[in-house]
This record gives sequence, C-alpha cells and structure tokens, in this order.
Amino acid sequence: MEDVSISELVKSYDTPCYVYSQQAILDVYHDYNESFAAIDHRICYAVKANSNIAVLGVLAAAGAGFDIVSRGELARVLAAGGQASRVVFSGVGKTRDDIEFALTQGISCFNVESISELTLINMVAKQLDKRAPISLRVNPDVDAKTHPYISTGLKDNKFGIAHDKALAVYEHAATLSHIDIVGIDCHIGSQLTEVAPFIAALDKVIELIHSLREKGIELRHVDLGGGLGVRYIEEKPVTIDEFAQALLPKLTELGLTVFFEPGRSMVANAGILLTRVDVLKPTEHKNFAIVDAAMNDLIRPALYQAEMAVIPEVLPSEGIETDGTQAWDIVGAICETGDFLAKDRLLSLATGDILAITGAGAYGFAMSSNYNSRPRAAEVMVVGTQHQLIGKRETIADLYAGETLWQTEK
Ligand SMILES: *Cc1c(COP(=O)(O)O)cnc(C)c1O
Repeated sequence: MEDVSISELVKSYDTPCYVYSQQAILDVYHDYNESFAAIDHRICYAVKANSNIAVLGVLAAAGAGFDIVSRGELARVLAAGGQASRVVFSGVGKTRDDIEFALTQGISCFNVESISELTLINMVAKQLDKRAPISLRVNPDVDAKTHPYISTGLKDNKFGIAHDKALAVYEHAATLSHIDIVGIDCHIGSQLTEVAPFIAALDKVIELIHSLREKGIELRHVDLGGGLGVRYIEEKPVTIDEFAQALLPKLTELGLTVFFEPGRSMVANAGILLTRVDVLKPTEHKNFAIVDAAMNDLIRPALYQAEMAVIPEVLPSEGIETDGTQAWDIVGAICETGDFLAKDRLLSLATGDILAITGAGAYGFAMSSNYNSRPRAAEVMVVGTQHQLIGKRETIADLYAGETLWQTEK
C-alpha cells in the first residue's frame, strides 16, 4: 500500500484490518474535478460508502462536499472538518430529528423523495424560523443494468418521485411557506459500468428542467447522484473522463451548477481488507480456506453476490501447506452458509498466509457488524511511507458495553 509493506501493516495492526491509501482517494477526487473543470460543479462524496472520519477529513481538506443519508453522517462530516454548507441530504426516510439537525447546521440542500417528506421539512423549518433549500429526487425509470439490490431508478424501487409526478410536486413545493426550491436530483443505482443509463436519466431530468422553466420555477443546480462503477476483477467501467465527455455537452448547454455524489468510485479501489488463513479444510467436493475476516467484516459477497479479487501476500509462512495451486472458497468462521468472501479462487495456500481482498474501500467496513459477537476490524490509513490507525479494533468488552442484565426487584 503506497510505500508500506503488507508485512509491516500486519505486524503493526494484526488482522482482519482495512487499509486505505490516502493518495488513491485524492487521485480520484482530482480526477472528477479535472474531468468536469469546464463547468461549475461540486463533488459531494457519498459518506455511506466509507464514513471513517479520517477518510472524510482528507476529502474535506481537499474541498469536497458531502452527500449524507442521516444526521449521524452529518455529525461525522462536521467532526472531520467538513462544511455543512457543502452537504446535500439524501434518503427516503428523513426523520424530524434528522431535518432539525441539518437545518440548524445549515446544509446546502435536502434531496426530497416524497410529498410527506416535503410537508415535514416545511413544518420543521417553520418551527425553527428557517427556510429549507430543497431539490426533488426524481425517479426517471431507467434501467441501470446493475445488481437488483443496488438499482434505484426503476419505477418499482422505493426511491424518488415518479418522473411524471415531479412537475406537480414542484408546483406544490412552490406554494410552501418555508421551502426554497434550489435544484433537481436523481440517482439511478450503483456500480454502473456504462454511460448510457446516466445519459437516459439526464435526458429525462433536462426535460423536466425545461418544463419547470416554463412554469417559472428556476433551479440553481442539477444533482446527478453517484453510481459510477469500478473494476473489481474483470469489469470494464467507463472512466471518469469518458463519463464526463459523454455528459458535458448536455450539461454545458443547461448552464446550471452540477453536483455529483460519488461513493464507490471514490474509495473502493483505495482500500484492501487484510485477512489471515486460519484453517484449511479440503473436502471431497470443495476446498475451504477459513480466514479471520467474515461476512460481518465484508458483506458484499453475501449480500450482492459481489466478486472481489483475492491476492495472496508473500510472507514467510510456517503454516501447514497444501500441495500446489487448487481452487479454494475463502470463507469466514460465521455460522451461515452465506458467509463467504470469494469462491473458487486458484491459490496455493498455507495456514497463517495473509490474503488481501482488494476493492474493499467502499461498502466494506461501513457495512460491517458484530454478528456472532465478532469485534469489528481495525482501520488504517497509509500516506507514502507513513501509516496510522484511524479506527481502533473493537475489544471483546466493547461488544456488550452498552448492555445490562435484567434487574430483579428485591
Ligand atoms: C448510495 C448513494 C450514492 C453513492 O453511490 P455510489 O454507487 O457509491 O457512487 C449517491 N447518492 C445516493 C442518493 C445514494 O443513495
């Protein structure tokens, strides 16, 4: 990782351990900025992909905005030195507490997903004697051609306001006393490898912007969400530059500030998960390598059938060797058949070997849990030859620190 050897990281932090390259994160951020330099734009990093405050801090210092989905994420952004005025608030179920905190802090925009939410925001803003800047998240009904669990822009998804209802909802929003209409928003899914669905969505959004202009509703920004895919193993996603070249002609003509909300593409390939082979269990039908990370640490393979690369790290190993290269399923120790990190990987393994699962910087640690009472992993950031712990490994005592025994009255 950058100029630090994996063996040094393992020696310093043990496994399982997430490691992130600061340079890799910044490279992507700069790539976005350079690719869209021709237009007024803001890159709002989608915090949910990796919400460690060190990661947020790097992006805040570089000038990024943020896309949040809860007041917890807003608190993280603020703790990391980010500015509320560069934050957009997405999500289908914002609560009164979420809205109050965001309004008090002065965020840039609420991406509103329903009339009910609009009513609530107006009410809370009135109580606080503030005006709430909003955009409507439009569901353009385009097929992002991605895994069904990460597709969000189809009409039977829970997200957004149907394209053909959006105009009426905007007209309703314009009548509300404490609402300022500032933009329009869409986000059609994640891990999109082609540009066509983005273009299809943008065309529908542009159509709406024109209809809104005819009704006298002028917007300041258009938010195209996140969703750009990355290469995990064999995917060939469009590059950020190709993505920009495809969108720029239409965006330039529009003349609005453009927001993007990239999550995965900013951090996925900046991170790896290091894990140790604990047990080798060849059977008649399958070979299982049981490692010290599991679905509680990295749920993407179990949840989305995601395939992530597994790279053996060459370290002096004293473990029990097996004969040569074989196909291994890399699994965790959790009591679930779905607990696998990779299947049928050709590897030559010994117990004690260290494996690096790549592409783990996004939706890795952020989705981890304590299932099977497993402490969550350590997180480390690398900068050149330097490395630092940015997330302490949980202890066994941490697991039940908030729990209490039932108190029987005496
Ligand atoms: C998840 C999400 C993103 C980020 O998606 P990526 O695929 O990680 O880029 C952006 N905007 C919204 C509204 C989201 O829900």
